[in-house]
Amino acid sequence: QKAEWAKLVHEKTHSADGHHVELAANIGTPKDLEGVINNGGEGVGLYRTEFLYMGRDQLPTEEEQFESYKAVLEGMNGKPVVVRTLDIGGDKELPYLNLPKEMNPFLGFRAIRLCLEEQDMFRTQLRALLRASSYGNLKIMFPMIATLDEFRQGKAILEEEKQKLISEGITVTDIEIGIMVEIPSTAVLADQFAKEVDFFSIGTNDLIQYTMAADRMNERVSYLYQPYNPAILRLVKMVIDAAHKEGKWAGMCGEMAGDELAIPLLLGLGLDEFSMSATSILKARSLIRDLNKSDMEQLANKALQMSNMEEVVTLVKSVTTK
Ligand code: PEP
Ligand code: MG
Repeated sequence: QKAEWAKLVHEKTHSADGHHVELAANIGTPKDLEGVINNGGEGVGLYRTEFLYMGRDQLPTEEEQFESYKAVLEGMNGKPVVVRTLDIGGDKELPYLNLPKEMNPFLGFRAIRLCLEEQDMFRTQLRALLRASSYGNLKIMFPMIATLDEFRQGKAILEEEKQKLISEGITVTDIEIGIMVEIPSTAVLADQFAKEVDFFSIGTNDLIQYTMAADRMNERVSYLYQPYNPAILRLVKMVIDAAHKEGKWAGMCGEMAGDELAIPLLLGLGLDEFSMSATSILKARSLIRDLNKSDMEQLANKALQMSNMEEVVTLVKSVTTK
């Protein structure tokens, strides 16, 4: 099987009935690029920039960040690279920021919330990204967006830094600006967001945790961590439909995007981009090439009307296991 998949490295990804989707990779450092290229990634769908900030005792400089972003953009050779701005907090701590301990770190002062307060840190990252933009096909997204106002603030700060750089004579290309959809309020209001963002990337790791109120790290409630729950599928559908209605694209960068049982449903729901660990890409490509999008649309419609996860799993298995 591995040998069969390997033949697909340079192929594009399309369903049996010819619908194209993009299979991208999640990365944490420029070193991960080799795996992306060897596994035929059509882009980077999530560059988690936290690792630049972790395992050290002070913030990375603009120059250090610029070098990393440039390396990734050049390494991908014009293919799309979605960089997520700093998503610290929750399970990812930065001791040197000396943030007070919180009762509920996953519901607390993290990600975009922190960046909009600690603007020097945020602006440094944005400048590094903007300067790197001319080396490839950069897209920027903000994590943990809960309100439209947070998106507007983040975008305004980005725009300010862009104008400063341009007035300094530095080349900055046009960049798509999107958001992670990982908070239920944002999924529910996706039709409003879709008018202002350039794209969505659904972060199911957090979206499932927040929708089901089940800590993604807690084994004892892991039975509630249900990617195939119709409630999750309905939220995903709302996000994809909202994007398409405004002519925007919708991707997914949570673990669900690389999940064999979820892929048929996501194809049916119309997801445009699937971002996963590089080692899952070829298997996913092979799977999608065997599926008819039109059949998967019917499958997804049935799943959306079901009342629990078990029914959905049985349904998907009935069509995909030969
Ligand atoms: C997610 O929440 O699905 C996601 C991709 O982000 P992270 O796993 O880094 O929180
Ligand atoms: Mg997340």
